[in-house]
Amino acid sequence: MRKKINIAIDGYSSCGKSTLAKSIAKELNYIYIDTGAMYRAMTLFALKSHLIRNDELNVDKLKAMIDSAYITFKYNTDTKRSETHLNGKNVEKEIRSMQVSKFVSPVAAIPEVRMKLVKLQQRMAEVRGVVMDGRDIGTVVLPDAEVKFFMTADPEVRAQRRFNELKNNGLEVTYEEVLENVKQRDQIDSTRSTDPLRQAEDAVVVDNSNLTMDEQFVFAMNHVNKVLAVPS
Ligand code: C5P
Repeated sequence: MRKKINIAIDGYSSCGKSTLAKSIAKELNYIYIDTGAMYRAMTLFALKSHLIRNDELNVDKLKAMIDSAYITFKYNTDTKRSETHLNGKNVEKEIRSMQVSKFVSPVAAIPEVRMKLVKLQQRMAEVRGVVMDGRDIGTVVLPDAEVKFFMTADPEVRAQRRFNELKNNGLEVTYEEVLENVKQRDQIDSTRSTDPLRQAEDAVVVDNSNLTMDEQFVFAMNHVNKVLAVPS
């Protein structure tokens, strides 16, 4: 049987990590895990629990209530996708709102939140044969992943892609709002003290500012196949 590896994909907001991760997972018949969705679900939990008022996040209360947030993924046979659930409710769509995007980076900067979610992510990857995307996968969650990619693209290109995606999903947003959010999240994610976004030393960089989805997929699979060809 072909050996199973873990693949870590990190990078800036909205640079196509999930698109690449999903296509690699499909190609290899691996499990795809969207760790950003878990931080988004924790943020939705904070919003629903009224822990964010007048744009202020009550960090102490969130820390105290953290274990009341039960985050899971369930496969949806209709959409053929694994969808995020918070305390048993499907929140896949809700977690993509601008309101969640606005507060997710401050929530993700809380060390207790990271500790809880990193542990969950590590457990999910124990089986191997996992493609996981996020900000700290190659550095903290799966430092022993056999393949690591670090993705980047110009902020304007990323904001335009995200804007198109949100519009296609029927959400009312402006391009300027999205660009501002992308830049703000990059700044908080790269400068937080716990597990900041950074490139793992052994990561392969994919700058997809000028690459089509097909081109980046071919580039990534070339590397993956080389690693898979090495006997374990
Ligand atoms: O991947 P996505 O853009 O949906 O992630 C939303 C936010 O979750 C990021 O901006 C970041 O603040 C946080 N995140 C993180 N660590 C991860 C994945 C996401 O801090 N592994």
